[in-house]
Amino acid sequence: SIIVTGATGKLGGHVVEQLLEKVPADQITAVARTAEKAADFADRGVRIALADYNAPETFDTLFSAGDKVLLISGNEFDKGRVRQHEVVIDAAKAAGVALLAYTSAPGSLTAALADDHRGTEEAIFASGLPYALLRNGWYHENYTENLAPVLEHNAVVAAAGEGRISTASRADYAAAAVAVLTGEGHENTTYELGGDTAWSFAEYAAELSRQTGKEITYNAVTPEVLTGILAGAGLPEPLAAVFAGVDASIEKGELAVSTGDLNRLIGRPTTPLSEAVAAALKG
Ligand code: NDP
Repeated sequence: SIIVTGATGKLGGHVVEQLLEKVPADQITAVARTAEKAADFADRGVRIALADYNAPETFDTLFSAGDKVLLISGNEFDKGRVRQHEVVIDAAKAAGVALLAYTSAPGSLTAALADDHRGTEEAIFASGLPYALLRNGWYHENYTENLAPVLEHNAVVAAAGEGRISTASRADYAAAAVAVLTGEGHENTTYELGGDTAWSFAEYAAELSRQTGKEITYNAVTPEVLTGILAGAGLPEPLAAVFAGVDASIEKGELAVSTGDLNRLIGRPTTPLSEAVAAALKG
């Protein structure tokens, strides 16, 4: 069967929804930390497995030989994500799964945020398991789900200079994962995934202006200033610095992915940023 960790998260939700369009529900297992969050999937016949990356024993009998597993990277930055992911990798290896797919980060990304992904990839290679690396670029939603301060101040604040970034929607990346989980011949392949069109923050501000009728400008700041702004908004300082480091990487072009892998895997153009903006403004 096909097993998806992080199934109750935003990306995982899209993956399970799209899997349900392609395979019978009882061939899908959604791994969740709490049954409540997975109740909707359970009602629709999806198998639910309760497990936590922090409790290795919960993965002990979760996988079977021949399963295809999607390991969706966790979001507990302070809990040692590589070790958490190794729990899943070890269990997948013990069971002899047919494929372990992992949602990684672009190979070009040198920001500290990529360290856990590189560490996890190393562990996957070392396991000898058949793998598929889904090196996901950034989501449109990282920006379009955080429009409140932008609309309040009529300013997009970022530390990315004139850098360009090729984002796509979570649904696009989910479609790529589904293509890999339901298709053939993806073993030991690394996909560099990003949207078809790269954009700059000045262009993003212009698109927001166009769609809102307001004058929204791009306020380019330094990573230090951005760290202060994010910390002031309540983010722990170390995490604020990590996010500001991502902007520095964007300025260097490290999140501009031009392989076309995402378009090819999903067999259609990626969702335009303008569509994600429109959806977010509609609320
Ligand atoms: P979410 O935060 O919505 O989902 C994270 C998922 O990880 C949740 O289902 C969560 O479970 C699960 N999880 C976290 N910790 C554990 C744990 N200890 N044991 C089991 N499950 C755990 O993120 P998205 O779905 O939007 O993105 C998926 C992942 O991609 C993120 O976790 C992050 O690693 C990365 N990411 C990528 C971005 C990009 O632009 N490419 C942007 C942001 C994140 P629960 O539902 O129980 O909370």
